[in-house]
Amino acid sequence: MSERGLSSWGRTFPDRGRRAVPASRFDWSEKTATDAFLPYGNGRSYGDSCLNHAGTLIDSRRADAVLAFDAKTGLLTAEAGILLSAITRLVAPQGWFLPVTPGTQFVTLGGAIANDVHGKNHHRRGSFGCWVRSVDLERSDRGVSLCTPSQNAELFKATIGGMGLTGLVRSATIQLLKVPSLTIDETTTRFDRLADYFDLAEEADERHEYAVAWIDSLSRGTSFGRGHLIAGDHAATGDSEGIARPPLLRVPFTPPVSPLRGWPLRAFNEAYFHKAPSGTSRRQVGFDGFFYPLDRIGQWNRLYGPKGLHQHQSLVPFADAKAVIGELLACAGAHGQGSFLTVLKRFGAVESPGLLSFPRPGYTLTLDFPHRGKKTLEMLAALDAITLAAGGRINPYKDSRMTAETFAAGFPGWRALERLRDPAILSDFWRRTALVLPPEAVAAWPADDGFRKGRSSLPA
Ligand SMILES: Cc1cc2nc3c(=O)[nH]c(=O)nc-3n(C[C@H](O)[C@H](O)[C@H](O)COP(=O)(O)OP(=O)(O)OC[C@H]3O[C@@H](n4cnc5c(N)ncnc54)[C@H](O)[C@@H]3O)c2cc1C
Repeated sequence: MSERGLSSWGRTFPDRGRRAVPASRFDWSEKTATDAFLPYGNGRSYGDSCLNHAGTLIDSRRADAVLAFDAKTGLLTAEAGILLSAITRLVAPQGWFLPVTPGTQFVTLGGAIANDVHGKNHHRRGSFGCWVRSVDLERSDRGVSLCTPSQNAELFKATIGGMGLTGLVRSATIQLLKVPSLTIDETTTRFDRLADYFDLAEEADERHEYAVAWIDSLSRGTSFGRGHLIAGDHAATGDSEGIARPPLLRVPFTPPVSPLRGWPLRAFNEAYFHKAPSGTSRRQVGFDGFFYPLDRIGQWNRLYGPKGLHQHQSLVPFADAKAVIGELLACAGAHGQGSFLTVLKRFGAVESPGLLSFPRPGYTLTLDFPHRGKKTLEMLAALDAITLAAGGRINPYKDSRMTAETFAAGFPGWRALERLRDPAILSDFWRRTALVLPPEAVAAWPADDGFRKGRSSLPA
């Protein structure tokens, strides 16, 4: 086994990924009583769900071969360590694209399945798991099995969104999406207050393949929650190469204090808001600028300073979302901690096959904060409380500090996942949440997936 330094994107746990072994060379029998394995993709999860400080990470990045691609049907089979960027480069010239893509293309196929990632088209295409046709899953207790919606179906469901806990995905087959080109017809609508966003978002979801909003989280008074709604569709003609431009720049070191706070943040938001003309504007953009703007700045996470960053992603059911999204933004403002990048998105009703998948119908708000110690943690806990009281949940693969109770309240399905967990696999996230919960602690919660439809009071 080699000593390697692997981390997660939030960098709040710089010392946690010391032991790693390549997927091609690891051996389940090397597990000892105090050790455990955990599959690792490309470390683009923000918190500790891809970390395993007391055990060994299985680094899948070099296991990245394409095993089959049918340009007629758009079915692709590849090893789990392949990056989404490599898939795009391969399939775009044949008119295919990823059916669902997160905001970075530097994510592995295995990581996209294990977190059941979502993209800007959730309202039409659901999450990544909806497009997975089969996985080859290797477990310490039963070797490799083919899991599909009808074969080893329970394991298939648990593996999608199962945060790597059900076994090592060796390879997977996914259905790609036929597109006319990768160039995007982009429509940006500037809105002057949060209240204006919701109708625009509904309309955009009806009309466009992709839709997402940027919110100026520092705006106050009558312009509270102002922002841009950015919608997009594949253009009839355009790029069919699928090669993203190289990063514009790379952040070379971690500054001692994050510049993403105070007046620089305020100035950025002000300038960015006015960058879009009032009303609606249209233009054509490249796929990399539309889907992956942050990939153009290498190691941008360093800008959050030496203590790292927290990303708080909440999901609020439709019932009370208009009020609750406002409460969440106001709460962050009241704690004096502006979020650098604030994103608001409407999730649709397409159901994921995944047992513990994050998306459900509702609005999802994503806030990024530099870690400033106790102050930040208190604010994040307040955001959790608002979300839970509205019947919502917090995204576990972005998290590094939610309580076990908060996790269980949002995902009572954790018990089913725990039953199917590979006994040789454990993550820091699971140690910190599920494993500290005695079953009776969550008995008050419904036995289904626990996602409620609106506000309700929490059990004591
Ligand atoms: C700039 C940026 C934008 C993002 N935008 C979005 C977004 O829009 N939507 C979204 O949903 N997420 C988003 N994310 C989060 C990111 O897409 C997910 O965390 C993704 O799953 C990370 O994949 P990874 O390959 O880096 O895996 P890692 O982060 O290394 O691991 C993720 C999980 O997958 C498991 N895993 C990895 N490989 C395997 C395998 N072979 N077998 C079994 N389990 C495995 C790990 O154990 C871990 O639990 C974003 C992240 C960044 C940095």
